[in-house]
Amino acid sequence: MSDEILIVGAGVAGINAALNAADYGAKVYLVDDTPSIGGMMARLDKTFPTNDCSICIEAPQMYEVDNHPNIEILTNTEVKKVKKADEGFKVRLVRKARFVDEEKCTGCGACFEACPVTIPDEMDGRIFGNRKLAYMPFPQAVPNVAVIDPDCRYGNMNDKGACVGGCVVDCSQCRECPIALCVKACKEEGKDAVRLWQANKNINLTVKSIIVASGIEGAVPQEGLHGYRTCRNVITNMEFERLMNAGGPTGGEIVRPSDREHAHKIGWIQCAGRGLDHGTPYCSKVCCMIAAKQTIITKEHDASVETTIFYNDLKAYGKGMWGFYEKAKESGVRYVRARPYDVTEDPDTGNVRIRYEDLETGRPVEEEFDLLVLSTGLVPSARNKKLAKALKIELDKFGYFKEEDPILAPLETKVKGVYLCGGATGPIDISESVVQATAASMKAVA
Ligand SMILES: Cc1cc2nc3c(=O)[nH]c(=O)nc-3n(C[C@H](O)[C@H](O)[C@H](O)COP(=O)(O)OP(=O)(O)OC[C@H]3O[C@@H](n4cnc5c(N)ncnc54)[C@H](O)[C@@H]3O)c2cc1C
Repeated sequence: MSDEILIVGAGVAGINAALNAADYGAKVYLVDDTPSIGGMMARLDKTFPTNDCSICIEAPQMYEVDNHPNIEILTNTEVKKVKKADEGFKVRLVRKARFVDEEKCTGCGACFEACPVTIPDEMDGRIFGNRKLAYMPFPQAVPNVAVIDPDCRYGNMNDKGACVGGCVVDCSQCRECPIALCVKACKEEGKDAVRLWQANKNINLTVKSIIVASGIEGAVPQEGLHGYRTCRNVITNMEFERLMNAGGPTGGEIVRPSDREHAHKIGWIQCAGRGLDHGTPYCSKVCCMIAAKQTIITKEHDASVETTIFYNDLKAYGKGMWGFYEKAKESGVRYVRARPYDVTEDPDTGNVRIRYEDLETGRPVEEEFDLLVLSTGLVPSARNKKLAKALKIELDKFGYFKEEDPILAPLETKVKGVYLCGGATGPIDISESVVQATAASMKAVA
């Protein structure tokens, strides 16, 4: 049996598992079904509890993975089939076409500039984030290679003005595109890397063990929850994180979606969307520290901004976390124990009016904010179901991967040789994800 390991999911957990296993001499295939490795951490601004720059910590690891002789990165790749074989697994992966030759593309950006269509970015669309149909997922992406939106290639963007897909000949039949502006721009750069005829590719592997590191997603509130999507200036904590980020769509300016004006009074509603019979039926553990971080950083941007956190329970669960909460209070953040029950918008100013019960006094209070942030919690990756089916392992009732025994066999699954780490196991922060990644990779190597 080979000493090969497959890691599914290349966020901070998958990356750390890969580096550990590879340093121990294992050959690692690090698979992610998006166009870049990095996961959620690559999109954050700073990280609690130290408030270090998130991408500054993760990018060097991403480049290390990219240059490690024992690691092969497979982005845009899904696990299709897994079969038990002798002491390991036979795995079929599908590498989805990115319509760009990874060997030839240098990430110069000529194709993005030439692309005539701008659409809202998946993550940042509500806060001024746009991208072209030919794009780079984010500036530090690994591989640093462009990707072309499949909707463009398959002709679904023609009504938006796309140049690709309107031809009488299907791209898969043609090697000489006379109309695609991205093809032309790339050729003018002397690279000829755009491959509109590229097809999905099957990859077969035999591996000794598999690590699932498929991570978490920020929960998206249902329309109307605390004014989400009914009030223009109500956003999620993920959207706020992107607003604060110098690499985000506003270059770090904390401005309101309605008028791009700086927000001077900002409120956070904790446990937004949490409920036993609806929404997220568990505590996501990290949201109190995310809110503390976001208020501290907001004050670092502009100390005069008023910040209020409406909370019920407070969770400061790990080493240094209580001190971090204290730091938020010292920086002037106002904590109010409250039950918000109504959020409306002033149509003239765009301001958000919150009515809440003050839980200390029992009295109803009404207050107005420039911007309201919903701390919405973490949910499992939407792709877990499909992955669990391929791997023949179980999910728990929330959709996270189930450990064999959380006390005596943590990070193991009922299939021997398949291990878990990071957000795949449940809501988690970065340092705990890294600890789990180290443990899972050692189990996988051993
Ligand atoms: C707004 C916000 C702020 C946060 N701030 C902090 C902070 O300051 N400090 C902190 O410690 N934590 C913070 N967190 C939590 C932190 O983001 C997570 O702990 C961390 O991202 C978990 O890492 P992971 O690698 O397990 O998952 P992820 O980062 O989610 O990475 C998982 C990867 O797996 C890929 N993937 C998923 N499914 C599949 C599949 N089926 N096949 C292939 N690939 C797949 C995804 O594309 C992704 O790249 C924050 C979270 C949010 C939402």
